[in-house]
Amino acid sequence: MVKIFIDPGHGGADPGAIGNGLQEKNVTLQIAVRIRDILLAEYDNVSIRMSRIGDQTVSLTERTAAANTWGADFYLSIHVNSGGGTGYEDYVYPGVGSPTTTYQKNIHEEIIKLVDFLDRGMKQANFFVLRETNMPAVLTENGFIDNANDAPKLKSSSFIENIARGHVNGIVRSFGLPKKSAGTLYKVQIGAFRVKTNADHLAAKAKAKGFNVYVIYKDGLYKVQIGAFANLENAKQLAEKAKAAGFEAIIIQE
Ligand SMILES: [Zn+2]
Repeated sequence: MVKIFIDPGHGGADPGAIGNGLQEKNVTLQIAVRIRDILLAEYDNVSIRMSRIGDQTVSLTERTAAANTWGADFYLSIHVNSGGGTGYEDYVYPGVGSPTTTYQKNIHEEIIKLVDFLDRGMKQANFFVLRETNMPAVLTENGFIDNANDAPKLKSSSFIENIARGHVNGIVRSFGLPKKSAGTLYKVQIGAFRVKTNADHLAAKAKAKGFNVYVIYKDGLYKVQIGAFANLENAKQLAEKAKAAGFEAIIIQE
């Protein structure tokens, strides 16, 4: 079992960076929760703990101590940047070697593949959580909250989904996590497009009608999906609901 510790930056009394109506603590939690949910829903041999699962104040010492005590195999800290810039970058502790640098590279490449952010590169910094953790640790800075281009992206649920998927794909590549066996998930899909804006447009329509919608990029297509179930009957029920709301819902097995 691979133990992944996910640390959504800030929380509670510490909002982190603020800008454009966004608080860093909320964005980091959204990304972290999706990473956890995707890993647990779609992969085997992985165990997850988080430094917080709600809007709590947690000190840096408490965060690293929790991961060290658990004996995590990997520490992933999620942040959003600010202070005049744009795009994505990630950090490891200065001078650290492999496997940490390999994990950084995997995560970096997979995020840049899926996410429309300027690539600011792979970096090193003497950050507390990178220094005080006993296991390989990577800290990601997902866009600039005070940037007029980045902030609207961070407000989009499909963009958050892709940031989370990028992290997941990097972790999966780093630890060779096996996919849950085929056919275990029935996904309700309402459209698939080569052009992302078309997918986003349909996603917005479905969201407006109350569906929990997300866009994933797979096999060259932006797929608009509204649910994934282990049980086929549950998927059928949701597909019927979507059809009644005017969408062309199909069930796919992945
Ligand atoms: Zn931060």
